[in-house]
Amino acid sequence: MERAFALPTVSSGARHEREARSAGASSLFDGESAIMPGVDFNVLRSEVTMREVLAVLGWQSTSRAGDQLHGPCPVHGSSSPRSRTLSVNLAEGRYYCHKCHSQGNQLELWAAVHNHTIYQAAIDLCHVLGRDVPWIERW
Ligand SMILES: [Zn+2]
Repeated sequence: MERAFALPTVSSGARHEREARSAGASSLFDGESAIMPGVDFNVLRSEVTMREVLAVLGWQSTSRAGDQLHGPCPVHGSSSPRSRTLSVNLAEGRYYCHKCHSQGNQLELWAAVHNHTIYQAAIDLCHVLGRDVPWIERW
């Protein structure tokens, strides 16, 4: 990720602080979860399909056999649109890239393409799809 350390204005300083917090998410996770509302990833994964995510990414398959699709990889950015390096199984909602070895479900695909955490990816994806984020209700 590119960062501009020059010209530390008030607004960019605030942005750096947020980036620094999310970058150290693992060590600060307990603190973060206390402040930030949780996302119900199970609900999101059941409501947003791999097909939808691929459609929003503008992904075009180059071959198809049943639920198994192949095409260029949006994670590492295949140089040719005719590439078959990415395998997608629509029925299982999984993808795997034979070149950069990125793999996972539809939410993880969105996160990998945009270099987001799963949490950021969930919120971003809901925004792009015009859906409500399935927040976990606090009790
Ligand atoms: Zn790849």
